[in-house]
Amino acid sequence: MPLPTSASTDHDDLRAALRALCAGFPDSYHRDHAAAGTYPEEFIAALTRDGWLAAMIPEEFGGSGLGLTEASIVMEEINRGGGNAGHCHGQMYNMGTLLRHGSDEQKRRYLPGIAAGELRLQSMAVTEPTTGTDTTKLKTVARRRGDRYIVNGQKVWISRIAHSDLMILLARTTPIEQVARKSHGMSVFIVDLQHALGHGMEIRPIRNMVGHETFEVFFEDLEIPAENLIGEEGRGFRYILDGLNAERTLIAAECIGDGYWFIERARAYAGERVVFDRPIGQNQGVQFPLARAYVNVEAASLMRFEASRRFDAGEDCGAQANMAKLLAADASWEAANACLQIHGGFGFAEEYDIERKFRETRLYQVAPISTNLILSYLAEHVLGLPRSF
Ligand SMILES: Cc1cc2nc3c(=O)[nH]c(=O)nc-3n(C[C@H](O)[C@H](O)[C@H](O)COP(=O)(O)OP(=O)(O)OC[C@H]3O[C@@H](n4cnc5c(N)ncnc54)[C@H](O)[C@@H]3O)c2cc1C
Repeated sequence: MPLPTSASTDHDDLRAALRALCAGFPDSYHRDHAAAGTYPEEFIAALTRDGWLAAMIPEEFGGSGLGLTEASIVMEEINRGGGNAGHCHGQMYNMGTLLRHGSDEQKRRYLPGIAAGELRLQSMAVTEPTTGTDTTKLKTVARRRGDRYIVNGQKVWISRIAHSDLMILLARTTPIEQVARKSHGMSVFIVDLQHALGHGMEIRPIRNMVGHETFEVFFEDLEIPAENLIGEEGRGFRYILDGLNAERTLIAAECIGDGYWFIERARAYAGERVVFDRPIGQNQGVQFPLARAYVNVEAASLMRFEASRRFDAGEDCGAQANMAKLLAADASWEAANACLQIHGGFGFAEEYDIERKFRETRLYQVAPISTNLILSYLAEHVLGLPRSF
């Protein structure tokens, strides 16, 4: 019996196409790349070739012009099929900053190439080692000199740089002491990575538990042409925030895909593993954690669809996108734990892929935003409680 899921009859063709593509990349493919710490080039190339990563780019720029609902299903199916959308999700949503705030000339210059998969905009550089989530205190500065900006500073955890042509960079252009609000005075730039690497920008890979390709980044007098400034100088923080609802909803969808993957694996194993002369899944102590995880993945999925619906209708979806991310990250982690437990010792064997997905889905409690920061957003902006920081 296929796993019944909310809205399972919607977007059947979309899901079928993704499932056919993902079926060409078996568990062993993802497992081997994760174990070797290598990038799944062929998988990402196939997703790019079929246009899935350009889902949200408007048709006038060569994309599919689909909504966040459909884009979220793409991300969900990648993770549900055993893959890890963390290797490519930046290509889906980083272009949003350009689309919403770039000039006509910038959009014409970059978006068709991104839509065609010829230009990769996989990277966005916000996080810094000393300031972390307190983004407005970031220390990377971009100073205007003639027709260029000169960038100095450092970033950390900047993903997929080695598989990207362009990077969105947030840097301070006016010192924090000189702005009326600390969120003012930061700007967003497009960095041409081929030009920058070795010419004022250096990167150092960070080995990590999720096999995510991610780097420390060092800027020393990196020159960026002034024409690469996106939108108005000083309004960059606002532009980055504008993109977060889509990002959070898409990451929620990845967690939901993981959640369904864990539940599918666990229920199959619980049905076939016989201990004490009966399938372990006959024991309610085994059934209940899985049933509860299923409830929570389903609930998270509905919140994801509500966030997407509002986003696609042009309505405010900050609360729903944040709630979807929180619910989905918790639900996938709960499903991961249930799945690992149900597999007993075999859950720890690499060939079952559970330990890999377990590590991968744990990330989403922390990145791209930690659960505490989501709760803080909801407490302040939805419940109207006093601002805490
Ligand atoms: C694999 C990976 C890939 C990443 N990719 C990118 C990327 O491509 N681009 C990018 O810019 N960043 C990226 N990040 C960074 C990620 O967004 C941050 O790690 C995340 O936002 C948390 O920031 P931090 O690590 O600095 O934690 P900190 O800000 O140091 O926080 C540490 C802990 O303290 C908690 N905390 C802090 N302040 C408060 C408070 N006031 N109240 C309650 N709790 C609090 C946080 O919730 C967190 O659990 C990536 C991270 C990882 C691990």
